[in-house]
Amino acid sequence: MSTIEKMKKALGYIVYEGPSAADPDVMIVVIVNCVKRGSNNEKTGPMAQSWILRADIPPNKAIFGPRPSPAHPALDYAVCGACPYAAGRGCYVSLKTICSVWRAYNRCSYMHTSPEEVGAHVAARVKTGHLRGMRAGSYGDPAMVPFEVWEKLLLPVRGVGGKTSGYTHMWNSRYRHEGQEIDPRFKTLLMASAHGGIDAHNAAEEGWRPFAQFNSEADLRISGLAMCPASKEAGHRKTCATCGSQSACNGRKGEEDKRVGVGIVVHGSPITLNLARRRNGVVTELDKARLVEAENTPVMLDWETGVLHV
Ligand code: SF4
Repeated sequence: MSTIEKMKKALGYIVYEGPSAADPDVMIVVIVNCVKRGSNNEKTGPMAQSWILRADIPPNKAIFGPRPSPAHPALDYAVCGACPYAAGRGCYVSLKTICSVWRAYNRCSYMHTSPEEVGAHVAARVKTGHLRGMRAGSYGDPAMVPFEVWEKLLLPVRGVGGKTSGYTHMWNSRYRHEGQEIDPRFKTLLMASAHGGIDAHNAAEEGWRPFAQFNSEADLRISGLAMCPASKEAGHRKTCATCGSQSACNGRKGEEDKRVGVGIVVHGSPITLNLARRRNGVVTELDKARLVEAENTPVMLDWETGVLHV
């Protein structure tokens, strides 16, 4: 069977099997799927998806394993880092979907392929109109995987006008173990997942574009970030597949990229909401003082062109 025929039969592609950046003793795997028609995820729209999973144990065991302690990180630390929603604390990605991807991996339903080949394949599907782009880390933190893997997957898609989106918590030392660093080149591909105005402000100061959660629309508005148009508060006007000319959540292309970050009002299960509200904090006088400049500067992002109007 030729490579193309094998690719047609496979449910998806394994583009990385190797150590996790956060926990190098653990082998992780990156699977790209939904390449034929894109996912039916309401928020992303028709984009290829990518899943970062432990190779050795099913996701439910990793997520609901022994409680983490300072000596022993949670079993899902290798794929999610210290995301506040990891380790069974209300992650909003469907556990059923994550487990079904892992079971298919375990039954050898995915084909080993290089990231270059999959990047080119997805780009070709974008060109023919079958897909709109690719999501990096539909589950898991993309920064657990070498930058070069994502570069080979995402840049060809961007090169043909496709959308890419991805988020990492690893930019912030609160979410990674002491001494761990993140490859700074990820700033060009990923958004910094942030919680509240101060976190977003810190991410921007470090050169990232933040994607921040807020407890309320009022908190989001004073932050000066643009509201995600796929959110309930924005009336679900767009999906990631139709957002901006190149997707709003594709990191900071370079020094010249002046686009603001993005904010969203937290949503999810009662557990997620409870945890997020504590994590996102309330907007204090200190927040307001630090963000006074943003507050006094009306900003509007043109979602079609990605241009920031000040
Ligand atoms: S801002 Fe756009 S790309 Fe980012 S999550 Fe919202 S819809 Fe998706």
